[in-house]
Amino acid sequence: MNQTNIKKLIILIAISGLTLCIANAQTFKGSHWTARKTGDAYIVSIQDKASILEALTDFVTSRKIQAGQITGIGATNEATLRFFDPSTKKYTDRIFNEQMEISNLSGNISEVEGKPVLHLHITLGRKDYTALAGHLLDARIRGAGECFVYPMDSKVIKAKNEEIGLNLYDFEQ
Ligand code: FE
Repeated sequence: MNQTNIKKLIILIAISGLTLCIANAQTFKGSHWTARKTGDAYIVSIQDKASILEALTDFVTSRKIQAGQITGIGATNEATLRFFDPSTKKYTDRIFNEQMEISNLSGNISEVEGKPVLHLHITLGRKDYTALAGHLLDARIRGAGECFVYPMDSKVIKAKNEEIGLNLYDFEQ
């Protein structure tokens, strides 16, 4: 192989490498979120002042994600936590209106009655460095909203368990 051909080969390898990189990192946009897909995972940025639940539900619906795992960090100034009492099967909701760090957001994606449902829990850091934690009903981003979503290749269904009063995994469906 002469020098010109070697040069041509190097350019060809560089172009195909770049094309592969671009194809491997696609970007997406939706209602109050932007995302980049890297490999099988997504990095999702939730817009300032947007609802976490609305943005992530719009994201999983638009990307047709039926199951998977969510993790995240960021900040909020309005969060509603929900506490479930199995003995009464009742919920108590409490709203926290203050600037807080989302020190951890973790949850999963499944399907309930044909619709994608997110089950999210959150740990919030207050100004005095104490933490609040619980089941997340919703929170409004104030600052950054940085999530990672790991889709799974299967459909995972939850169904209402009347005895317990919650949607639980139903692997028979
Ligand atoms: Fe929960």
